[in-house]
Amino acid sequence: MSICEILSVGTEILLGDILNTNCRFLSRALADMGISVLYHETVGDNEQRLADALERALGRSDIVITTGGLGPTPDDITRDVCTKAFGYELEFRPELARQIEDYFTRAGRKMADSNLRQAYAPKEATVFRNYNGTAPGLGMKKDGKCLVLLPGPPFEAEPMFRQSVVPFLEEYRTCTIVSHQVRTIGIGESTMAQIAGELLDGENPTVAPYCKTGEAYLRVSARAHNKEEADLLCAPVIEELKKRLGDYVYGIDVEGVEQAVVPLLKEANLTVATAESCTAGFIAKRITDVPGASAVFKHGIITYANEVKEKALGVSPETLALHGAVSEETAREMAQGVRKVTGADIGLSVTGFAGPDSDEEGKAPGLIYTALDAPGVTLCEKIETGRNDRDYNRFVAASRALNLLRRYLTSKPHQGG
Ligand code: ATP
Ligand code: MG
Repeated sequence: MSICEILSVGTEILLGDILNTNCRFLSRALADMGISVLYHETVGDNEQRLADALERALGRSDIVITTGGLGPTPDDITRDVCTKAFGYELEFRPELARQIEDYFTRAGRKMADSNLRQAYAPKEATVFRNYNGTAPGLGMKKDGKCLVLLPGPPFEAEPMFRQSVVPFLEEYRTCTIVSHQVRTIGIGESTMAQIAGELLDGENPTVAPYCKTGEAYLRVSARAHNKEEADLLCAPVIEELKKRLGDYVYGIDVEGVEQAVVPLLKEANLTVATAESCTAGFIAKRITDVPGASAVFKHGIITYANEVKEKALGVSPETLALHGAVSEETAREMAQGVRKVTGADIGLSVTGFAGPDSDEEGKAPGLIYTALDAPGVTLCEKIETGRNDRDYNRFVAASRALNLLRRYLTSKPHQGG
């Protein structure tokens, strides 16, 4: 089995000025190819320390991938140090000079002479074209060692890796890893993990719990010779998780609960209108992020101030005075009101405290009520996130409102409307 190492070059990484996202991207992409990354190392833009790190890396790893330091300035030393480590010499490559000139022409910019420094490469190296910048990537294979040099900017390194480096490393590929996400909402990560039970101990596929802004999901990953075989390994485990987690599961490999809601509304031939207070349009935005939402979503109202809740939705002043804007009673009247004034089949509302401060009644940030009104039924849910984080609370408020709608749609047979 070949061992791979990622060597990140850049003083700005050591200083904490930038996050080493290249390392994360490469680690994931290599894992997907079944290439074992056993070491991550970071070194600054210093010739001696880079040479030392490279020697160490080539001593213990079969494949070394560097990122950063391929630019035209004097602090960009990766190419020179790597060329030396392989005992090669740099030579001028006219085709690289043409590609760099071509890049500047396309970008409508004037090329600095220093950019021609990037037209040098060892004649033994494979050159990876850079369509998003000037520094070409390089690949060298010698005496069982493989060295790949990628530019620092992620928007250059990532496409270059996908297009050119994956084929360059094909001989090292041992497998394909396929992952699927079982997305849940309304259940905590630990409860979800408890329900998944012994499935978390599986080796192929593996099942691992994660959480993401108010939601929890399970990643099911299988390793096999090809995608089809890996999918076959995942399928029964996904089915079992769906059975165990029941209604908490809103989708497989989807990005958010809105992606489950829009098809359900379409299927039932129903429309929804929203009345939003603390989310100020975010629910409407998330619904309309889904292509085809126009068939099910016609109207959203932001009723931030109390007098607008009264005027636009008909929430009674007594309700507001007695229970406050953030209350089950107000949420219910908002949902009923928006359904009535828009003529939609379903009214969906949310009202809550996003924080960071408590309101004058002393209700805590993260207290949210969401309600749904449909013919013959008004449902309401109270949520307490316990978090003093405005963005988080607004996101969760929208998610939970959308989830209330999803649960209504999946629990009830519809005639269409
Ligand atoms: P350039 O031609 O832009 O100088 P380069 O290949 O020489 O590219 P660096 O000078 O090391 O790369 O880094 C350029 C920029 O790329 C950094 O300022 C940073 O924004 C980004 N970058 C570098 N390394 C990483 C990394 N490991 N992860 C994420 N971004 C990075
Ligand atoms: Mg640079």
